[in-house]
Amino acid sequence: MPAPPYRGRIAPTPTGELHAGHAATFLRAAARVREAGGELVLRIEDLDPLRCKRSYEAAAIEDLRWLGLHWSEGPDIGGPFAPYRQSERHAWFLSIWRQLRDKGFIYPCQRSRRDVAAAANAPHEEDAEPIFPVQWRPPVGTGVDAPTPAGANWRFRVPDGERISFIDNRLGQKEFTAGVDFGDFVIWRRDNVPAYELAVVADDHAMNITEVVRGEDLLVSTARQLLLYKALGWLPPAWFHTPLVRDENGCRLAKRHAALSLRHLRTQNLPPPEDPMVFLKNPSPLQSFQGGQTQTPCIK
Ligand code: GLU
Repeated sequence: MPAPPYRGRIAPTPTGELHAGHAATFLRAAARVREAGGELVLRIEDLDPLRCKRSYEAAAIEDLRWLGLHWSEGPDIGGPFAPYRQSERHAWFLSIWRQLRDKGFIYPCQRSRRDVAAAANAPHEEDAEPIFPVQWRPPVGTGVDAPTPAGANWRFRVPDGERISFIDNRLGQKEFTAGVDFGDFVIWRRDNVPAYELAVVADDHAMNITEVVRGEDLLVSTARQLLLYKALGWLPPAWFHTPLVRDENGCRLAKRHAALSLRHLRTQNLPPPEDPMVFLKNPSPLQSFQGGQTQTPCIK
């Protein structure tokens, strides 16, 4: 059987301005599409109603165009898999929640993130999620009769000790162990919003994405997501995780690096990088721009 046509995606979350780190990832995603002669989808991951803003989405679209990116489907131009805003795809996500509930893969949980963080006794790497204590898991079957996910965090019961390995098209073979590298993870939030892990899997599948290109901070998430693909009986896409862009203190770029936002560079009347691939070629893209210096201490 011939391989399906390559479909990639860029999936910004409109909670702030795009920065050089996003640019590096999205340019890589576009380069992979070009190399494969495929299509690029723009999907807006605006699930969090309190943090996401339409104005950030509009700014992101402008910035992406300024960078020289082109997509053939997206919220601004439509396409066969519309809508391309996750906030408009609630019914689809709910149908996936139902499937997982019916198959007994998930359970409702009243523990907050803070409870879980307080219970975790091992120190964690930068950004690593604390492991949900297994003794807090309810008996199998809990929640199968729930008519709606609202009012609880719903967690995926991970198969403790199971090794999840996958090929990353940049990094080679990667392996994580469920229950060790990550624990039961949230797939639906108590404010009745689908969580990232569920929404991204549901949409990459629905939109026929063949390769996911994203930052390597999401490698562990890929292992979680592979469990969801398996639970749902879906074939996973290929994976390509890009290096994280760090500032000169070794910190990941974040919203606080305002001077490195693409919007800032644009409104300073700096031209887009002559060769937008500068973000990919230059190991320190921050040096490519005036105003790229920051002394912000790394908050871990
Ligand atoms: N919306 C996610 C982010 O901005 C994208 C994650 C992904 O590409 O899977 O980090």
